[in-house]
Amino acid sequence: MDKELILVIDFGGQYNQLVARRVRESNVYCEIYSYRTDIAKIRAMNPKGIILTGGPNSVYEEGAPTCTKELFEIGCPVLGLCYGAQLMQFVLGGTVEKAPVREYGKTATNFDTTNELFAGIPEQSIVWMSHNDYISKSAPGFKSIANTADCPYAALATEDERPLYAIQFHPEVLHTEYGKEILFNFARKICNCSGDWRMDSFVENAISEIRAKVGEGKVLLALSGGVDSSVLAALLAKAIGKQLTCVFVDHGLLRKNEGDEVEEIFGKSGRFDVNFVRVNAQERYYGKLAGVTEPERKRKIIGEEFIRVFEEEAKKIGTVDFLAQGTIYPDVVESGLGGESAVIKSHHNVGGLPDYVDFKEIIEPLRNLFKDEVRKAGLELGLPEFLVYRQPFPGPGLGIRIIGDVTAEKVRIVQDADYIYREEVDRALAEYKKEHGEDAPWMPNQYFAALSNMRSVGVMGDERTYDYAVVVRAVRTIDFMTAEAAQIPFNVLQTVMSRVINEVPGVNRVLFDCTSKPPGTIELE
Ligand code: GLN
Repeated sequence: MDKELILVIDFGGQYNQLVARRVRESNVYCEIYSYRTDIAKIRAMNPKGIILTGGPNSVYEEGAPTCTKELFEIGCPVLGLCYGAQLMQFVLGGTVEKAPVREYGKTATNFDTTNELFAGIPEQSIVWMSHNDYISKSAPGFKSIANTADCPYAALATEDERPLYAIQFHPEVLHTEYGKEILFNFARKICNCSGDWRMDSFVENAISEIRAKVGEGKVLLALSGGVDSSVLAALLAKAIGKQLTCVFVDHGLLRKNEGDEVEEIFGKSGRFDVNFVRVNAQERYYGKLAGVTEPERKRKIIGEEFIRVFEEEAKKIGTVDFLAQGTIYPDVVESGLGGESAVIKSHHNVGGLPDYVDFKEIIEPLRNLFKDEVRKAGLELGLPEFLVYRQPFPGPGLGIRIIGDVTAEKVRIVQDADYIYREEVDRALAEYKKEHGEDAPWMPNQYFAALSNMRSVGVMGDERTYDYAVVVRAVRTIDFMTAEAAQIPFNVLQTVMSRVINEVPGVNRVLFDCTSKPPGTIELE
């Protein structure tokens, strides 16, 4: 059975993830491919529709990303967005040039609502524009179906039977009032997709694809206990059971109880029928980290040691056929692989293939999912909520939440303080929600405790103390690229302060970090 697929062809725009997302919200499955993808491959995928994304270039520039006119002759509907719209017009004989007035931001637009693309939306509404170039002359056979004060071709459709559409604005962005409806119209009415795709069909499809690919082969997964690798483990467990071995390296820098929780879920509980190996490498890590204070060196040591431990375990298992990685869509985009947008950061999940494990191929079944889609899949696969909704946690773990050198004692302090802090913040959030029926306006997206390397004088039970200061941090952020400190109510902070000092030996001060990002980072090192 062929599943209905819309292809999103990536020209490097900023909002491309959102395009994919809106299509999926119309219950239609979609995948993103580079504009470099071969036309034969595109045809072979038999898409129900194609969307060309925006992009930073100008279509008339030498070397700008392009496509051939065959793309518009496949027979399925094609929708160009912004750069994609300009490209469609340009390739089919229209003119694109620098706009006399560039449009950026919310723009009032008139729509021809007799066109199916705009069926059911008002004749006037606000759209999000972001362009320097414009379509000054449409390609033969096209007519304008939307305009703004400065843009005669805010959208175009053909006058003939060819199912081609071009939109200068960004329907994928929430600022476009009826953007969701427009993309729904395209996916469901124009491409005629039935809208029967659901997250559970992702799980079902992924399971059958994994089975087909892996066959009788053996798969190895480095399970970190984070959301992505846990969901991947659960998915592979359902698909291939004991053909999977999960190696979980406990580096002793995890949050309190986390190692045992991971072992319970994937090992002891028997909930997932896989080979589970926990490597207790705590002492080994503390040994390597002893006396090391420089953050980048700590990161390096933790990363290298991971490879070494994992390699030793992999050797015991012998040759495997596949190495599974929990790469998710934002990793692909941020690393500048697969997608076309500018490289934002390199990520440990993607890129250089590990050469320390003997395997034939990498599999990355979560590669096309967004974080919240990964979470949904996790719940469906039977993972507990606390795991699926875990906060982001850095690979080097508490190693970079302890300023200065790392010792077992400091790890214990930061684990216990962090546990209390999260417990109190969670309690206050739950109370607020119960009382007001909505989330607290100060609800942080990430909150954790860290250990400053500072000791100071205090007094407890009439005795002088000389103990550590714990730092508690809470940030509100949308994309984790910028952030501001969350306004945790003072009474909550006070409760945290007294509990941490009473319950965690070695601490006599609690500080709140109110630094935003920039200039700070979310993590402390
Ligand atoms: N670079 C093109 C322009 O400036 C397209 C912009 C876009 O796709 N957002 O018009």
